[in-house]
Amino acid sequence: MRRLSADYIFPIASEPIKNGVITIDDDGLIIDVESSTTNPQSEIEHYKGIICPGFINTHCHIELSHLRSQVSEHLGISGFIKAIVSKRTASSKEFIQEAIEAAEREMSQNGIVAVGDISNNNSSFKQKEKKNLLYHTFVEVFDLNPDRAEESFNKGLSLQQELSQFTTHSSIIPHAPYTVSESLLSLINKHAAANKSIISIHNQESEAENELFISHSGAIYEIFKAMGIDTNQLRITGVNSLQSTLSYLTKASKLLLVHNTYATKEDIKWAKKLMQNSPVSNPSERSASSNASPIQHLYWCTCPNANLYIENKLPDYNFFIEEDVPVTIGTDSLASNWSLSILDELKTISNYYPHIPLQTLLLWATKNGADFLGFTHLGTIEKGKKPGLNLLKNIKGLRISEKTEIQKLM
Ligand SMILES: [Zn+2]
Repeated sequence: MRRLSADYIFPIASEPIKNGVITIDDDGLIIDVESSTTNPQSEIEHYKGIICPGFINTHCHIELSHLRSQVSEHLGISGFIKAIVSKRTASSKEFIQEAIEAAEREMSQNGIVAVGDISNNNSSFKQKEKKNLLYHTFVEVFDLNPDRAEESFNKGLSLQQELSQFTTHSSIIPHAPYTVSESLLSLINKHAAANKSIISIHNQESEAENELFISHSGAIYEIFKAMGIDTNQLRITGVNSLQSTLSYLTKASKLLLVHNTYATKEDIKWAKKLMQNSPVSNPSERSASSNASPIQHLYWCTCPNANLYIENKLPDYNFFIEEDVPVTIGTDSLASNWSLSILDELKTISNYYPHIPLQTLLLWATKNGADFLGFTHLGTIEKGKKPGLNLLKNIKGLRISEKTEIQKLM
């Protein structure tokens, strides 16, 4: 048993506690959280800084870790797609495995306890089976040709079958609005409804994505044409990519939109309304905590450093705060990021949006992600949970800065 204290405890399920004390057992299970010590005799480890729950990374592609520093910055989405297509299979199997292992180690050292991870193939499964971190694997499928929808979906099913030998935490998901046909979206939606599964999809990562749907033009359209993809199969709807796609995915028990760099306030309002009018398949689902709000249906994941890496642009976080939607944090892959660290993502947001309070940033980095992924024992520091504990050091005036460091306490 250990008793840990710091200048502030951020339980996330409740307000920060000045000089609070957390009692944990040897496995990290929270036995008690006190506002002050009632038992002065017992030994307390006191830290300078704040203690918060382990971080949840809701968007990663660990299988792309071998592409660290391989893709130039600020290529824009079309340049990025081109680089990934040409580089992703150029490395040896051994190199890919080693990179995956190192990436997982990096996430763990950076206080990440659970990951929503995208898989296009089985190269990360061996590492995931070791259960060093908790994963929900999103088996990603894509194909613009409606005639091949079933074939693509079945490939996803067989990958999911392979995963089922060691985990039930998986789902089949579409890559992005611009890489799937309506038929493939419908198959995914039907499967999600039958299995009460959660879905994530890349959304509005670039302006080119919106242009494609609105006017059959833009940088993605051009690169697809250059790659010999039949552009007649692209859906032109006259409205942006989100509004062209979301209605096909409402049967998922929970849905995560990833990136949202070019989502407008109107898009967020529109999406909220659509999801409110679509009944959740398991509305009674609530987190184990008694004072937690009902589990939401629609979550918004941001990957700020990947957005800066590829597009050199960030979403407008004020929109998400004003619309009061649950935000989660993702690192995306090492192909489009300098590190796999939720703290590094928070530093970027804090730098560009200094008015966002620490409690909000940490809510995005912990509880919201745990709620979305359905990991009810994670995300908050509460009696009976086992969230992992991070110490954040060099927090001046309860603000994250470039100087803030992380130490994993549990
Ligand atoms: Zn991604």
